[in-house]
Amino acid sequence: MGRKVLVLNQDYSALSICSVPKAFLLVFLNKAELVAESDSYALRTVDTTYPMPTVIRLHRYVHLPYKGVMLTRQNIFKRDNHRCQYCGTTEDLTLDHVIPKSKGGKTNWDNLLTACKRCNSRKGDFTPEEANMKMRQKPFKPSFIVFLRDFSGSIEESWMPFLSKREKAY
Ligand SMILES: [Zn+2]
Repeated sequence: MGRKVLVLNQDYSALSICSVPKAFLLVFLNKAELVAESDSYALRTVDTTYPMPTVIRLHRYVHLPYKGVMLTRQNIFKRDNHRCQYCGTTEDLTLDHVIPKSKGGKTNWDNLLTACKRCNSRKGDFTPEEANMKMRQKPFKPSFIVFLRDFSGSIEESWMPFLSKREKAY
């Protein structure tokens, strides 16, 4: 059973994801409480039915140092769905400095974009405007949710209110 449970901090901000058995254990040990349960699944034993947790909340506040998403080639590809942000291909991907380095463009989330080799060389030492190339989306600093989705495979409906809360905190 590959289902995942969203773990909330004591202040209801999203903290992490865990397996269903781990969530049960935390609730059983009275370290966490059930916040939301699945309406389509339940766990059955011979004589009892337990709700299947989808969101739990820790009783104690966990202090986390701010952890941004690391700026790496793979993470930029991931943010851009492994597609060239100019033509949309998934082949021959490279990183493009939207504002070229030679024009003072920085190496950061806001200036790096996934581009295929062809688009990258076509763009050359120009900005997208100068090269008359349209970006599918502007580069941005990804938030927690982008990577959470990747990690768990899907985002449960019941997680959404808590995830948007976390988004604001960033
Ligand atoms: Zn391209």
